[in-house]
Amino acid sequence: MADAPRTVLISGCSSGIGLELAVQLAHDPRQRYQVVATMRDLGKKGTLEAAAGKALGQTLTVAQLDVCSDESVAQCLSCIQGGEVDVLVNNAGVGLVGPLEGLSLAAMQNVFDTNFFGAVRLVKAVLPGMKRRRQGHIVVVSSVMGLQGVVFNEVYAASKFAMEGFFESLAVQLLQFNIFISLVEPGPVVTEFEGKLLEQVSTAEFPGTDPDTLSYFRDLYLPASRELFHNVGQSPQDVAKVIVKVIGSARPPLRRQTNTRYTPLTALKAMDPSGSLYVRTSHRLLFRWPRLLKLGLRCLACSCFRTPVWPR
Ligand code: NAD
Repeated sequence: MADAPRTVLISGCSSGIGLELAVQLAHDPRQRYQVVATMRDLGKKGTLEAAAGKALGQTLTVAQLDVCSDESVAQCLSCIQGGEVDVLVNNAGVGLVGPLEGLSLAAMQNVFDTNFFGAVRLVKAVLPGMKRRRQGHIVVVSSVMGLQGVVFNEVYAASKFAMEGFFESLAVQLLQFNIFISLVEPGPVVTEFEGKLLEQVSTAEFPGTDPDTLSYFRDLYLPASRELFHNVGQSPQDVAKVIVKVIGSARPPLRRQTNTRYTPLTALKAMDPSGSLYVRTSHRLLFRWPRLLKLGLRCLACSCFRTPVWPR
């Protein structure tokens, strides 16, 4: 007899990776999943419902969930049959880019409230049930910025580093309860996330920032960032495919990067534990040799790398 479908709760499904993942799991040919696709604002559920098609009301239901609210989390879990979540996917996230001097502490705190404490809040809510049943899988959509810092992304990277440290620590205890943790680390993904962010910051004023820093941000970082997304960016569909594999795996990995085109950039840090190679190379490429950086990104995008994206 086939196993009962596993209940998968995903945060942040109104767009991007969360939406794609919800749809792919709901269309699983072996019908292994009952997907609870959640979003903060149910007014935005139209795109997800259209993409879900016949799965809507069958293997996929839509529910309200704001990861920054205890009440919202409790309300959402109370609507799940038996209140039991087999797989939790912490996907909801916000970005923050720009010169530090021009960013408010409130904006920085919002990043941590959503990306880090939002995930922690959900884990605290589902963990007692998973421990009782002695099974579960917690998937965290982290980022390559959880592995290495990136200029002008200090606070976002810090929130992802926080997630990496938290979940790696928790993973040890949870193995004792047969509960697995997987940190999925996409590189650049072409979604609303990046589109909205780059659009906002290209016109933002960043009060209190000196003219040199502003010019580095606008004239060097932003064009390089656009090149990066253009040349190395993955689609949310491809990232979702990797997450589907991770969820379906009998022995889920603790870490999984999704984009091998980006690997040469993360390798710099791994090659030199002192960190100097990564910091100095990034500095030179951005500030001294931006043309070489552009050329390098184009090279990463070409077929020099035969299997650029997992899964093929
Ligand atoms: P996205 O903006 O399309 O999706 C983020 C989702 O989180 C949105 O649906 C948004 O409404 C939701 N969200 C924000 N605050 C929320 C809250 N308080 N409660 C519930 N939902 C909330 O962008 P995406 O790229 O699909 O991002 C998904 C995840 O992938 C994020 O955690 C992001 O950090 C991560 N990521 C993105 C990229 C990228 O380049 N786009 C790269 C690496 C990692």
